[in-house]
Amino acid sequence: MLKEGLKIVLSGPSGSGKGTIVKELIKNETFVLSVSATTRMPRQGEEEGIHYFFKTKDEFCEMIKGEQLLEYAVFCDNYYGTPKSFIDECVENGKDVILEIEVQGAAQVKAIYPEAIFIFVIPPSLAELQNRLVGRNTETGDVIKKRLERAKEELYLYKEYDYVIINDNIVRAADYIEKIVCAEKLKSSRFEQAIETMLNYQGGY
Ligand code: 5GP
Repeated sequence: MLKEGLKIVLSGPSGSGKGTIVKELIKNETFVLSVSATTRMPRQGEEEGIHYFFKTKDEFCEMIKGEQLLEYAVFCDNYYGTPKSFIDECVENGKDVILEIEVQGAAQVKAIYPEAIFIFVIPPSLAELQNRLVGRNTETGDVIKKRLERAKEELYLYKEYDYVIINDNIVRAADYIEKIVCAEKLKSSRFEQAIETMLNYQGGY
């Protein structure tokens, strides 16, 4: 148990800055990001296998049928899902794997892995969220409107998460997450095996 990495689920409204926090976190090599599959079109600068595995709807449905996804959801008219095998591999190798996913997917992960850490990222205000969505210039006005409506629906669900991070400063937000992960790793429940080994120690005396 002690050697296993943690599964960290990061949710929060589109534009809350989860992606930028993840970029900051993975500078530390114990963290890895789970790369999702999506039917959304790539944005400028997004690369296959780095930001997403870009799929057609048919390909995505095949992944669902083949039980290749840990969870999946429809978000603003597109499918998004987490490939299963990568998560298991990372955790077994002691890596802390970050799933940057929306709320429906997070609920599915909670049902399968209740021991995962659930962190909800929020913007300082909805006005700020709107500014960020408009400022990043990656979506049309219609999509921004949808994402803002969806943001309110997601905010209702904050209590489903173990922690809430207000993202008013990327470095601080990432630092808080590192501290949360550190505290989680020191939980007594993770020491069962190590303590048992000590208790079984006979020694030479
Ligand atoms: P975007 O289109 O902005 O990249 O992502 C839209 C939303 O989908 C974000 O809230 C993002 O966290 C979420 N998302 C990305 N990958 C996954 C996934 O594998 N599963 C689920 N359920 N949501 C995802």
